[in-house]
Amino acid sequence: MGHRRLERWCPGVTDELVRDGARLGEGEDVRFYVDGRLKAPVPEARTLGATRPFLEVRLRRRVEPLGNVRFVRAEATDLVLRGGRVTGVVMDDPADDGLLDADLLVDATGRSSRLGEWLGRHGWGEAPSTG
Ligand SMILES: Cc1cc2nc3c(=O)[nH]c(=O)nc-3n(C[C@H](O)[C@H](O)[C@H](O)COP(=O)(O)OP(=O)(O)OC[C@H]3O[C@@H](n4cnc5c(N)ncnc54)[C@H](O)[C@@H]3O)c2cc1C
Repeated sequence: MGHRRLERWCPGVTDELVRDGARLGEGEDVRFYVDGRLKAPVPEARTLGATRPFLEVRLRRRVEPLGNVRFVRAEATDLVLRGGRVTGVVMDDPADDGLLDADLLVDATGRSSRLGEWLGRHGWGEAPSTG
């Protein structure tokens, strides 16, 4: 699934990854083990095998040239709220003023997300979650 999304957003990325050394397995070639147990084969499975840094550096190269993308190396430490809505993020970024305004803020900080804590700090309840 993730692999199909990558190909949709970055056309040709599968060929590029395979050319650089990733392994592509399809159908019964792909064996999934969960807790050491082999799962039943999925005929339509198409799986790309690569390390995370290998994948991320190639995706980053695709995203970097986009004119409306800016990379900021900083830690997000809080939300900015105005008028009852989130309007930005506070960053631990010595090179900037530490504030980043946003029309839409997406929390992509994974399992270590502190979004619930930040919302609580500003008087909001925990956001509903699924999955
Ligand atoms: C041991 C292990 C093996 C796995 N193997 C696979 C696998 O083979 N295939 C697979 O598809 N999935 C695998 N997963 C699951 C996969 O890693 C996760 O589902 C995926 O990484 C989640 O992506 P994400 O972008 O939501 O979060 P993450 O990958 O966790 O990315 C979050 C990013 O946000 C950054 N961040 C966090 N807090 C802040 C902050 N305050 N300010 C700024 N940045 C911040 C982090 O540094 C990180 O770079 C594995 C997971 C584990 C733990």
